[in-house]
This record gives sequence, structure tokens and C-alpha cells, in this order.
Amino acid sequence: MSCPFCTIEEKDIVGKGFVARAQIIFENEKFILFYNLKPVFMGHILLSPKKHIPSFLEMGENEVEEMSRILHMATKAVVHTYNAEGFNIALQEGEIAGQSIPHLHWHIIPRTKDESGEWYEKIEDPSLRVVGTEETKKNVALIKEAWRELYGG
Ligand SMILES: [Zn+2]
Repeated sequence: MSCPFCTIEEKDIVGKGFVARAQIIFENEKFILFYNLKPVFMGHILLSPKKHIPSFLEMGENEVEEMSRILHMATKAVVHTYNAEGFNIALQEGEIAGQSIPHLHWHIIPRTKDESGEWYEKIEDPSLRVVGTEETKKNVALIKEAWRELYGG
């Protein structure tokens, strides 16, 4: 089976098994930031390297630095977008830690009063609602707007 996070498609619709252009908030040569189709809470985004790296421990020092910078920028952007009072950041590495897609990715989840409660178990909840194209685009547009406000471009 091919890796969904290695499969970036120039599509205006979202779907299973690929990252659609419509999901992407930010990308550069090495990283991609995109809306999660199974958000635990609204604004749940994912950051992953474009290269298929299964392990955080395989990343080089420069990549770790760049990743940290984008992780920080992305967190600020979602907190700003949703007026979040807090956030969760998670990395699951290895089956034992709950990693489901063997391509390194961080979860960034803004937290608001409207959607409180346990978050972690929801990540693995198969009944979790999958968002469609419209909802994805709406959220991507909002986060991109915050991104522009904060960082320009
Ligand atoms: Zn991959």
C-alpha cells in the first residue's frame, strides 16, 4: 500500500489515501502542513516531512530545527484562528505509541471551551467523523488567513 502522506495530489477535493492540495495550509521544500480529515477537534492539523521518514530519531539536526520552527508557527496560527485557550501537540512513534501511518507526523490541536474533554483516545477512534471537502476548505482558508496575518506571504 502506498503512503498517503507521500501522495500529494493537486486535487480540489479531499479523499482517502492522499493529501489533496485543498488540505494544504503551508509547504516548503521539506515540510507540509495540512488539515486532518479526521479532526479530534476543529482546527486539528498535521505537520510532516515530505520525505518518508518513519522515525523522529532519524531526522537530522537541521531538519529538527526547521521542524520546530514550523511547528511553533503552525501552533500560533491555529491558536489565533480559533481563539484557542490552549493546544495539544502529539507525536506517536511506533505501534506501541499508537502510530497508524508510518510516516512521521505531528498532531497540532487547538483547544477551546466549545470542544473540551479528552482528546487522545479520539485520535484512534474509528468512528470519528471524517470531514468533507467543504469543511476542510473552510478551515484551511481560515488558518491560511491567520498565517498571512502573522507571517505575511
Ligand atoms: Zn510516506
